Amino acid sequence: MSKQQQLAEISQEVTSCQKCPLYKNATNPVPGEGNPDAQVMFIGEGPGFNEDQQGRPFVGQAGKLLDQLIESIGLKRELVFIANVVKHRPPENREPQPSEIEACKEYLDEQIKIIQPKIIVTLGRFSLEKFVPEGRISQAHGLARFAEFNGRKIIIIPMYHPAAALRGEQVMKTLKEDFQKITKFLVEEKEAESINSPVEVEEEKKEDSQLSFL
Ligand code: URA
Repeated sequence: MSKQQQLAEISQEVTSCQKCPLYKNATNPVPGEGNPDAQVMFIGEGPGFNEDQQGRPFVGQAGKLLDQLIESIGLKRELVFIANVVKHRPPENREPQPSEIEACKEYLDEQIKIIQPKIIVTLGRFSLEKFVPEGRISQAHGLARFAEFNGRKIIIIPMYHPAAALRGEQVMKTLKEDFQKITKFLVEEKEAESINSPVEVEEEKKEDSQLSFL
């Protein structure tokens, strides 16, 4: 089964999920969306009003800001994957409860396993806690760390939630700065890949031998 099909299967399961009470008040499930081969995955908190209406993550004001930030580092929304720790809207945008996050965990874990992103950007406190249980966003933001996930190392970059940035200038400035770090890690990952790739090494050898002919 392709990654796309596997992700579609998860979305289907989310649609009929009744593992916690959140589905009762929700208009639509919001499983997440994006590129199945994304190198960068963004994980937010949970759907808000607009997301619940449309069944898509980050499509309100915070989503517009997220789109701009993604474009500010030369990426596009279609190239990344965007998901949340809970897949149905908590009533009145209240914080998701630990039991709701736990009930939804398997869907997010499966999405990460399928996509195998190189970098996960956690947006806000709840997705930070998934990887750094004792983490405080004010201290952890912008500081990348590795997480072992399903036998693979993933770079985790904690960041403020875009909604928090819309509420305060200083957080906005910090979030913009932290976003630039994604580029640095993507470049480093690419360099590490080319060093380790035998094909690239062959190419280099070929170039060397061509040079010696000149
Ligand atoms: N806030 C989130 O955490 N997720 C969304 O999808 C939208 C707003």
